Amino acid sequence: MQSPVEYLKGVGPQRADLLKKELNIFTFKDVLEHYPLRHLDKTKVDKIVNLNYSTEYTQVAGKLTDIHTVGEKSARRLVAYVHDGTGDMELVWFQGINWVEKTLQPGQVYLVFGKVSFFNGKVQMTHPELEVFSPEKGGGKSFLDPIYPSTEKLKSRGLNGRAFAKITYCLLQQLSAKDLPENLPEAIIKQYRFISRWEAYCHIHFPSSEEMYTHAVRRLKFEELFFSQLRLGLRRATRHRFSHGPRFDKVGNLFNTFYENYLPFELTNAQKRVLKEIRKDVGSGKQMNRLLQGDVGSGKTIVALLSMLIAADNVRPEDGQPFQSVLMAPTEILARQHFNGITALLKDMPVCVKLLTGSSKGKSRKEILKGCEEGSIHILIGTHAVIEEKVIFKNLGFAVVDEQHKFGVAQRAQLWKKNSLPPHILVMTATPIPRTLALTAYGDLDYSVIDELPPGRQPIITTHRYENKRPQVMDFIKAEIAKGRQAYVVYPLIEESSKMDYENLMKGYEEVKSFFPEPKYWISMVHGRQPAEQKETNMQRFVQHDTQIMVSTTVIEVGVNVPNASLMVIESAEKFGLSQLHQLRGRVGRGSEKSFCILLTGPKVSKDARERLHIMCATNDGFKIAEKDLEIRGPGDIEGTKQSGELNFKLASIVTDKVILEVSKNLVNELLDADPDLTMAENLPIKSHLQVHQGKTVWSKIS
Ligand code: ADP
Ligand code: MG
Repeated sequence: MQSPVEYLKGVGPQRADLLKKELNIFTFKDVLEHYPLRHLDKTKVDKIVNLNYSTEYTQVAGKLTDIHTVGEKSARRLVAYVHDGTGDMELVWFQGINWVEKTLQPGQVYLVFGKVSFFNGKVQMTHPELEVFSPEKGGGKSFLDPIYPSTEKLKSRGLNGRAFAKITYCLLQQLSAKDLPENLPEAIIKQYRFISRWEAYCHIHFPSSEEMYTHAVRRLKFEELFFSQLRLGLRRATRHRFSHGPRFDKVGNLFNTFYENYLPFELTNAQKRVLKEIRKDVGSGKQMNRLLQGDVGSGKTIVALLSMLIAADNVRPEDGQPFQSVLMAPTEILARQHFNGITALLKDMPVCVKLLTGSSKGKSRKEILKGCEEGSIHILIGTHAVIEEKVIFKNLGFAVVDEQHKFGVAQRAQLWKKNSLPPHILVMTATPIPRTLALTAYGDLDYSVIDELPPGRQPIITTHRYENKRPQVMDFIKAEIAKGRQAYVVYPLIEESSKMDYENLMKGYEEVKSFFPEPKYWISMVHGRQPAEQKETNMQRFVQHDTQIMVSTTVIEVGVNVPNASLMVIESAEKFGLSQLHQLRGRVGRGSEKSFCILLTGPKVSKDARERLHIMCATNDGFKIAEKDLEIRGPGDIEGTKQSGELNFKLASIVTDKVILEVSKNLVNELLDADPDLTMAENLPIKSHLQVHQGKTVWSKIS
């Protein structure tokens, strides 16, 4: 299976080179895992007269005539016709002309396969795939002929989607069942009635029937998901067993005093449950690596704060030094807001909280660094400034990463180095992650969900309006302001550096101003190009209700909390992704007032954007929105998961194979509970498979 592809019959050094470059095919195994796109039923041949605009791919059989080139230089193309007695079809090639011309024989009957198009009412096929027609072949070696993904370059060397089948066929002839030893335990194979691995590989390429094809796909998809879950599960289990972390074995005075006297509300059941999960982790002596997800406004911050108080209640046994915590936020605004909120909550408590950001300078910065190093600071809040080399902690025990997708893996890994025993890590997401992604991309983290909003929240009423309704929208803002509410008007900022985006923002600001003249109304504006103090002043004026309207870019996207704001207007809403829209909308509906979100767009809205807007208007549920987002965008595009090797499935899809994923996850859990080192005889096939096929990703400690 590991033999280089050039050892295969029909693959010389040149083709091997192309296969490597074009399709990443290096070994026999890669050839076997280059799965067909679909199969063509050879016995099914269409009549040309029956082809119409709705036909996509088709196969016809007919006599080839009139092969000739037309045009000069770059416009040169090869044209031929095929007649099947019911009609004519034109065949066209723009590339590989010489090779095609040499191999075609006028007068010969061919099976012609390809995508049908119509040109001036004439039926046509561009770059069709041809094969000499032999009527008896239909019932021959295979009933369904595989069509493989190929590239233009490979096609021009005679390796089109159908020719590739010859290579695979040769390889399967050369191999036998013993080359593909069983890698699943007997019990699982029996329970799920899987066909053998060897059979699966044979039938996924050359199925003897559609039923066998279905069996093959099912088995191979399961394998992919099962082994991916197993690798993740092993990493998780290894960490649980071997990676030591600080032990917080008591809940002490700070936590209890705060909980009893200063907690401004009753925790929701979900918050209590998550807190218990965290307490169990941090008391175990093993390092915690936990992903906390919850919808916008579900109250993740208070859970983080309570956890940090537990840290401060505990001391390092060697020197009696209390544990410190750090809370890292993706933007300065958010860091400041956390700082303001937390210092207000802790104002009567003997807990020292400090803020460190890029704009902490000079003497105050020095003092903060000193406090960290000496251990007098209990909780340090900040931007990524807190993980810089210069920041040294006396005894860091707990780290919270808020809105995790804004940080890279490397940045988070910095946290590990801040103490000799790595601190516990709590990673909080901005919006929910679809369950399938949580199981795969973040499958090596433990994971908690706050699946309940604090009581009294009303759904945010969301509507889509076209720009020509802007005056009415402005009137609506006026009416809300008259009731004492505040409003956000957000402009897209695709690129931090894009001049046009800023011009739009400025234009928008002037326009809003013309509707809301001073001194009756006051407007704050916040964007990424302002110096930190200016941002902060504008933000604070809005927080303190000195201004009624906040015009901003998406810098306010994450986490900003102004409960009196009840109206969110999103300009050019068609330019935002779903999770971003949901995040933005989450800035309102934080108090008990009825809140609104208005999505403004230009007159032209693409189909995808229309669907996004529709979903936003239809639901407030971040979990549902996350699922839809995954469906629309596909897993490759979800932020923060691009590097994840556990998403590169060849057959399985976390969008359509949820059930298989759940089944494999449960099986893996049972298996690792019973046999964490895979030493039982029945698990030997799994173990040997893992040894041969090492996972591509290296356990990066936190990802
Ligand atoms: P997010 O999960 O989006 O970070 P926050 O932690 O900012 O949400 O909480 C949103 C708001 O809900 C805050 O004003 C917070 O004080 C409030 N809150 C959190 N938990 C509760 C609760 N159990 N009951 C009432 N209000 C709560
Ligand atoms: Mg938050």
